[in-house]
Amino acid sequence: MLKPSRYKSYFRVLRYVKPYWSRLILIFIATIFFSIFSGLSVYLTIPLIETFFQTELNTSAASSMANQTQDKVQIHSSDTGFLYSLKKGISDKLNKYVFQTSKKEALLRICIIIVLAYLLKNLTGYIQSYMMTYVENGVIRDLRTSLYSHLNKLSMKYFTNERIGNLISRIMNDITVINSGISASFVTIIKEPLLVIVYLTISLMISWQLTLLSLAVFPFVLIVISYLGIRIYNQSRSIQENMANITSFLQEKIFGIKIVKAFNMGEQENKNFHSLAQKYFKFSIRMSRIHELSSPATELLGIVAAMLIIWYGGIQVIETHTLKASEFMGFLFIIFQIMPPIKQITNVANRIQQSNAAAERIFEVLDEQIDVKEIDNPVVLKKFNDMVEFKNVTFYYDVDHQKILDDINFTVKKGEIIAIVGPSGAGKSTLVDLIARFYDATNGDIFIDGINVKHYSIESLRTEIGIVTQESLLFNETVANNICYGLDKASDEEIINAAKAANAHDFILNMPNGYNTMIGERGLKLSGGQRQRISIARALLKNPSILIFDEATSALDSESEILVQEAINNLMHNRTAFIIAHRLSTVKNSTRIIVIDKGKIVQIGNHEELIADESGLYAKLYSLQYFAD
Ligand code: ATP
Repeated sequence: MLKPSRYKSYFRVLRYVKPYWSRLILIFIATIFFSIFSGLSVYLTIPLIETFFQTELNTSAASSMANQTQDKVQIHSSDTGFLYSLKKGISDKLNKYVFQTSKKEALLRICIIIVLAYLLKNLTGYIQSYMMTYVENGVIRDLRTSLYSHLNKLSMKYFTNERIGNLISRIMNDITVINSGISASFVTIIKEPLLVIVYLTISLMISWQLTLLSLAVFPFVLIVISYLGIRIYNQSRSIQENMANITSFLQEKIFGIKIVKAFNMGEQENKNFHSLAQKYFKFSIRMSRIHELSSPATELLGIVAAMLIIWYGGIQVIETHTLKASEFMGFLFIIFQIMPPIKQITNVANRIQQSNAAAERIFEVLDEQIDVKEIDNPVVLKKFNDMVEFKNVTFYYDVDHQKILDDINFTVKKGEIIAIVGPSGAGKSTLVDLIARFYDATNGDIFIDGINVKHYSIESLRTEIGIVTQESLLFNETVANNICYGLDKASDEEIINAAKAANAHDFILNMPNGYNTMIGERGLKLSGGQRQRISIARALLKNPSILIFDEATSALDSESEILVQEAINNLMHNRTAFIIAHRLSTVKNSTRIIVIDKGKIVQIGNHEELIADESGLYAKLYSLQYFAD
């Protein structure tokens, strides 16, 4: 049933427990004492009952109890000697300290001992469960953190292929499922078997035949559990996948709520959501049908075993008199105490299955290869000084698919302003994405100051590059925090100066709390032009040597374009810039223009040179736009 390979992911999760070894040792010790005190507190019910049955206590209830069983144990087994001496040891102690007195006094003493045993049992139980919760939550924190930091290392390729909601679901929901798996399994895997061992030892001390009879039912329980466990694993994976679909749906549709409203898709999206929720409902119901079955099934098997025992043991008490009534009652008490830990153990298998399914989904992300890697001992790019060079660069997003960039060669000197133009889908954004290593070139290399970009530390490379895109991404923070995003520290004065240079200062002052105004989810409380100017201020404050503008003004109307263009001009001062623009009028003044078509460079030159070539793509695009304007 417990094939290790099937539980591979679950065992990998357990490796995260390693740093908590000292707490685990404490848990282990507390668990051992907890089990011993649990067994003792149950075992003490036998002398408790005995005090009522015995008429004369000075003959010692406990020792007579031991002696009778002594005959029985010696007759039936020679290898239960240890159990016998254990039992005799406990009985002698009880005899000496509890029963050598009046019946009333003995009753009081045994009651006090039972209270003490329960006190110690609960104290050790508390230590153990508190420590375990600490470990579980620590593991979950570590797992979540390493998952998130791994995501941050993956290249953009991964994020374009994976639904964001699915990733969020893995980090939140799947890890929570693992949490319940660890909490159930880790404690129970130590505690419950120990309890079973302790209870079994006591029951063997009383009657090994009755104990064996009780154990005969185990194989049936195991078969039922392993069958249910496999079904639970399959269902559990489907449930987690479904949860991820729901999260993705919500994430996408709430993100695009304006479009949903504009296209009157509210009703339709309600239906779509309902069908996803219904699917989740179905899987959950199917899961609980199996899950909830395991408890009654084991309990039913348990009760069958119990009745068999009562019948067989009852005969020993009533007819053959080989077992005392108090012992038999104590035995039954213990056997019924064994049932809950056994049930817990059966449940552990199910929880592990669930946990394993969730862990698989988490390790799928953690095992995702980092394709934009940093070399060992990378060079730190301190300041860009000379030139950027593309040498025979070819790029595919997917090796089996279309070539996106084909043998790109060009150099850009420090201080140049390079425009990249071409039809939609030509590969312009892809080309500039390679400079900051959002992706790595499939073939060929890019050099900055003669050193391959792959040899620089990624952090230093990206520090030297500032990016302003069409969809300027802002976070739901204050204006000031958005401007200084990515910097350890920036003074108020520096922030204000950056905002002024980006033509943003005036509108920021008009906001309710000025620089401390929260700008809403993705900056939605701002206009497109305002967002753009804040992201330009952000780039200005970062003070990079190389700038990339990817359609930075194309979503703006003429008035805000003028303001943004002014801000861009301030930003480009004394820097090297790559500008992708559809509106060719905005790139006329660039030092050089690179024209790309279907992934190839088809023309390079300044505006005058390119426009002079009437048959060239640039002249065509320019005249198309000229007449359109
Ligand atoms: P536009 O001017 O419309 O923004 P572009 O010239 O910037 O276009 P790119 O965004 O570089 O073009 O895209 C070039 C090609 O690569 C397109 O055919 C596009 O479909 C494809 N592409 C872009 N991103 C990905 C991606 N993450 N995975 C697969 N293909 C992609």
